[in-house]
Amino acid sequence: MPSMRLDCPECQRPLINTRFDATFRLPDRSERLCFGIPAGLCLDCHQLYMDPELIELLDLDAGRCVFAIQSDTVLQAGAWSGAE
Ligand SMILES: [Zn+2]
Repeated sequence: MPSMRLDCPECQRPLINTRFDATFRLPDRSERLCFGIPAGLCLDCHQLYMDPELIELLDLDAGRCVFAIQSDTVLQAGAWSGAE
């Protein structure tokens, strides 16, 4: 599991680890639902940042996130490090 300890590219504040459900629109216009994706949330910018490796892993690099909703309460950094 890649570390999600990142800073916000916009305001340089540390991102908060969270999980969210998201819909991605793929180039062939199909949509793909992903649940429980770990991401970094910036409270200031209200922006979610996914790990590029994870995007690649899910084969979503060509897709566009069209919808995302936080699916869990905010977790402390490393809280899910033992999860699969
Ligand atoms: Zn920010």
